[in-house]
Amino acid sequence: MMQAGQERKLFSLLMKAYGKQDWWPADTPFEVMVGAILTQNTAWSNVVKAIFNLRKNNALNPQAISAMPQAQLADMIKPSGYFNIKAKRLQSFCYWYLQQGSYDTLSKISTDNLRKDLLSVHGIGPETADDILLYAFDRPVFVIDAYTRRLFTRAGLASGHESYEVLRHQVEQVMQDSVVDLNEFHALIVWHAKESCRKKPICMHCTLQHHCNYAQQLDGYEFG
Ligand code: SF4
Repeated sequence: MMQAGQERKLFSLLMKAYGKQDWWPADTPFEVMVGAILTQNTAWSNVVKAIFNLRKNNALNPQAISAMPQAQLADMIKPSGYFNIKAKRLQSFCYWYLQQGSYDTLSKISTDNLRKDLLSVHGIGPETADDILLYAFDRPVFVIDAYTRRLFTRAGLASGHESYEVLRHQVEQVMQDSVVDLNEFHALIVWHAKESCRKKPICMHCTLQHHCNYAQQLDGYEFG
């Protein structure tokens, strides 16, 4: 059984089960940023197709994205879903990115200020901002997504009512602001959510079954 404060134990169990994930699947920090926006409300496989289209059209850069007509961009990123909304968000982000002086200038800003700046951009919420901070700028922040909330609640690390910021700080503190561990922890949670801790969890074969409140409260629990 686990409780709040035992995130490191969860991290070790997941690492032992699945090994290093080496995220984020992208060639450049800018590609991470584009992926972080496109992955809102969609599966990663759809994002891959949208990024492929951008690359194929020599448009996987902030200059091209901000210069093209929004309808043309929407067409290229169609596979990622909500393409009109995401085209607007992507362009707003690219205008801002170029205005700020791109990666070199942004990478000199403190984490708190960069987070505030990202959150001021149209369509960038806490989860997207933290994806960008952690995976594009190597900053010690944790990403709280639906998978994390679900796993933490089931395993006993959260009640399910915590705010985004409370959960984020809880994990960052326990992981002692290690960028490498925060990076791997989030990636492992996403993998685990796809493997076992799905909407309808597959507890019978789950590597965490002996440590998880949810599994131990199931009728007739004695998996193995
Ligand atoms: S035992 Fe079940 S609920 Fe607990 S982490 Fe595994 S799949 Fe999720």
